[in-house]
Amino acid sequence: MPERKTAIISVYDKTGLLDLAKGLVENNVRILASGGTAQLIRESGFPVDDVSSITHAPEMLGGRVKTLHPAIHGGILARNLESDEEDLKQQHIDKMDFVICNLYPFKETVSKIGVTVDEAVEEIDIGGVTLLRAAAKNHSRVTILSDPKDYAAFIDELSTSQDGEVSQNLRNRLALKAFEHTAEYDACIADFFRKQYSEDKAQLPLRYGANPYQKPAQAFVTEQEELPFKVLCGTPGYINLLDALNSWPLVRELSASLNLPAAASFKHVSPAGVAVGFPLTDVEKQVYFVTDIENMSPLAAAYARARGADRMSSFGDFIALSNIVDVSTAQIISREVSDGVIAPGFEPQALEILKRKKNGKYCILQIDPNYVPKNLETRQVYGVSLQQRRNDAIINQSIFREVISQNKNLSDQAIVDLTVATLALKYTQSNSVCYAKNGMVIGLGAGQQSRIHCTRLAGDKADNWWLRQHPKVLGFKWAQGVKRPSKSNAIDLYVTNQIPTEEPEKSEYEGNFEEVPKPLTKEERKEWLSKLNNVSLSSDAFFPFADNVYRAVRSGVKFIAAPTGSVQDKAVINAADSLDVVYVENPIRLFHH
Ligand code: 5GP
Repeated sequence: MPERKTAIISVYDKTGLLDLAKGLVENNVRILASGGTAQLIRESGFPVDDVSSITHAPEMLGGRVKTLHPAIHGGILARNLESDEEDLKQQHIDKMDFVICNLYPFKETVSKIGVTVDEAVEEIDIGGVTLLRAAAKNHSRVTILSDPKDYAAFIDELSTSQDGEVSQNLRNRLALKAFEHTAEYDACIADFFRKQYSEDKAQLPLRYGANPYQKPAQAFVTEQEELPFKVLCGTPGYINLLDALNSWPLVRELSASLNLPAAASFKHVSPAGVAVGFPLTDVEKQVYFVTDIENMSPLAAAYARARGADRMSSFGDFIALSNIVDVSTAQIISREVSDGVIAPGFEPQALEILKRKKNGKYCILQIDPNYVPKNLETRQVYGVSLQQRRNDAIINQSIFREVISQNKNLSDQAIVDLTVATLALKYTQSNSVCYAKNGMVIGLGAGQQSRIHCTRLAGDKADNWWLRQHPKVLGFKWAQGVKRPSKSNAIDLYVTNQIPTEEPEKSEYEGNFEEVPKPLTKEERKEWLSKLNNVSLSSDAFFPFADNVYRAVRSGVKFIAAPTGSVQDKAVINAADSLDVVYVENPIRLFHH
């Protein structure tokens, strides 16, 4: 005859309780229960002892202390060790074998509108969590049931077992469930108090998520007192923060790798432009719409380039700047349509200029430059958590060592440009291919399913960037009062050879000009594009076919950095060799999602 087992039951959710009690009684298990639980079991005619019968202490403090007692927790936590048995004997404590517990409904309570801290506090279960933890900790001996859905399987095993035990396998499974239950419960409590006590410090309420109907939404950090950024102006949205938190590490790393100020112009979590602060030529100043900016700092030059690379894509951008923002940089930003900026600091006058943007609603974030994120990052997709080590690969000139083409002549400027392009890819939605020149991205193809489509898209953008510098474009005679975005749109139609021929678009287009420019002829385009040279290109993964190299070279690419590993590697390198391209193996694949 096996020793009589003991179960302790303390449940808030009393679903299935009586079937459970019946099953326990049928299997000759002694039942101990806390106040409300015992009452219900007793009323249903099953034998039950009150917890107080073994604690010899009444429930007190209005239920705050019910099962918190050595007679309970000694009985749960004791192992099958001689010393533990001895301790129990001395204290006249019996072992517990089965613990059945679920918790006060904290989550349900705090989800009610207008709940007070006092109301929430009362729903913080103490003894139940302790029961769950203690039993789950000792699951090599004790069974913990935290979910009424598991009662039937448990009684089933109990009824068919020879020794009145359930299998270790079931105990393991149930212990994990109990640990998950308490972890979720604690996360819920922390979430509530973070919102109460740390709003705008560790927690930032967001108006909505990716779309206006995706409510509620928030940003928060755990295990640290403050978010790594401060909101100096405006109210960042969900996508603003995605942009800010992807673009900041990009400019930070780029600046560290090249020892130059860096800027990025982000849209929908991919860069539209990235650059370091090389001074601008007069033509570049004109192409990037910054001829009137005086005393342009290297940081301002970096942003002028980043914003100027693909002005249409940068419309309404989120900006990241590696250095303290000065007046000349703020002046450039001030007249562009932009959603926000993240930087390690702002000169007072620069901050004043930016605060005036968007009627005082421009989003200005100050990042803590010393912030280092946790090494493991977790996110949920469709209810499933995905976890990975953060991409902490360091991209600098040292990774461009393995030149695998016949032409080994990798220039210093190419190394700079490949660093810019490759770091841009590290923070671009994959697949991605990036063309760079003069320390700036000139064409980026992001988020395409096919690599050649990235290469074409980015190549077309690089061509457009170059065509915008054509003397005919520089000589455009604009009509009075044409706004900057309208100019960018008209230039785009012109250089992409999509000048409207039908009304009403034709008149709208022509209305931008004092003198409507003659289109570029085929020969003019060809002749101008043939002058685009010494472009660097980086790819976030290997080229599966040589067509990528052929397309790249048509946009002036001379230097390519890409991972290897394709069955077509040889054909790809042969293509590079046949066109005298310098091809560097990048040992680091850079998928980003
Ligand atoms: P009952 O309805 O049996 O009176 O209470 C059951 C609830 O009390 C369960 O949700 C259980 O988690 C919780 N509980 C058990 N022991 C304690 C304790 O010592 N203190 C507190 N605050 N809650 C407890």
